[in-house]
Amino acid sequence: MDGSGQMQSDLIDGNSESPKGWRSFASHLFAPIKITWGQFFDLLVPLRHSAHIRRHAASVIISRIQLVAAIFAVMVPMWSIIDWFVFPWPQWALMTVLRLGSGVVFLLLAWPWDIAKSRLQADSMLMILLLVPPVFYLLSILVTEELHVTGVALLVTKLYALMPNIVLAGLAIFPLTAFEVALFSAPAFAFAVIGLFMGGQTLSVDVHGPMFWLMVLVMGVAMFSGMSQLHYITALVNRAMIDPLTGAYTRRSGGEALDLQFRLSAMRNTSLAIAFFDLDKFKSINDSFGHEEGDKALKALAENLRQGLRRGDVLVRWGGEEFVAILAETNTEGARILMERLRTTGFGLRPDGAPMTASIGVAERMTDGANDWPALIELADQRMYEAKRGGRDRVVMPGGETLVFGDKPIF
Ligand code: GH3
Ligand code: MG
Ligand code: MG
Repeated sequence: MDGSGQMQSDLIDGNSESPKGWRSFASHLFAPIKITWGQFFDLLVPLRHSAHIRRHAASVIISRIQLVAAIFAVMVPMWSIIDWFVFPWPQWALMTVLRLGSGVVFLLLAWPWDIAKSRLQADSMLMILLLVPPVFYLLSILVTEELHVTGVALLVTKLYALMPNIVLAGLAIFPLTAFEVALFSAPAFAFAVIGLFMGGQTLSVDVHGPMFWLMVLVMGVAMFSGMSQLHYITALVNRAMIDPLTGAYTRRSGGEALDLQFRLSAMRNTSLAIAFFDLDKFKSINDSFGHEEGDKALKALAENLRQGLRRGDVLVRWGGEEFVAILAETNTEGARILMERLRTTGFGLRPDGAPMTASIGVAERMTDGANDWPALIELADQRMYEAKRGGRDRVVMPGGETLVFGDKPIF
């Protein structure tokens, strides 16, 4: 869940922190979706993407690779028919072998393997897909270098020289950051230069400059296309995952995150704690000050909770004014330390200036011997009710120990 806290907080205030000039520039670039500095940074480098975005982008990339590879697996070997007409023996046979070889690689890429659609998987498959045409191009230079080709054969070999550009243009169909497009373009540029040397030519600005300029231009277009696709994917995934009022995960995506964390923690035999928060007497805020003020208080509460949580922790809006914090690799003692910290940061103020308070139930996978995540939630929920019954403004920990907030010391 790296960066989820940041992503969550980026979403809350829209683009309030962005300078005006930037806002109007970005609004034209990514219209109709608004963008903040933080989100723009996430389009440049893949450093802070949340697990959800990574997973979603990876599955889009893999399904597009498979589609393109399936088309190429048929087209590339079929092109042999043209080679048979334009090249003499043994060149046409060698070209056919090359084409069949490429076809096999494309077929393997297109094959519907039962694979984990991880980002590493997507990136490796993309690299292989992108390497096939340049390698094919270099080998085709070796095959045809003895020939003094003319006419249609010359045209065909010139077409091969366009391979690196085709690869760059192909990058435009993937949702990638600017950095990734540059990275995946590097082999195409390298192979274009190697190809020139293998073709026995010296690199010169006036002859090859326009070609490289065109490659940079094509890469730029691919970069813009990749970034805007990534932006749309991110906006769509966030819209489904993030509660717009508080910036916390929605119950559905929070459940998915909890499911993943629970399985990881069971597999690695590490602890996993959750804290279930229900605000005390929240209804009275709505009743006395109106729903708007209630919404403001909820927003402030989520902001305060995030301040207290670590970067890797996930905050979920479980229901109206109920929140769940997923605390990865945190044991009961760690959860108790967090509760102490929350006691100092507090939950914000009610509209009348009185501190807002919450009843909290904590559960931990190992201490409680929970078999699945719903059991963990159930326990934390029960303890939250115990805290309500005990007088509110307190935490009930695993084992039934109660930490009373308010004026009294908790320990
Ligand atoms: P307690 O939990 O201490 O027993 O009292 P409570 O008043 O908080 O009771 P309860 O948890 O049952 O009430 C939840 C209230 O939260 C009901 C509803 O009006 C309010 N609420 C839920 N979602 C929202 C929201 O999105 N905005 C606002 N303003 N209020 C909400
Ligand atoms: Mg409630
Ligand atoms: Mg309540």
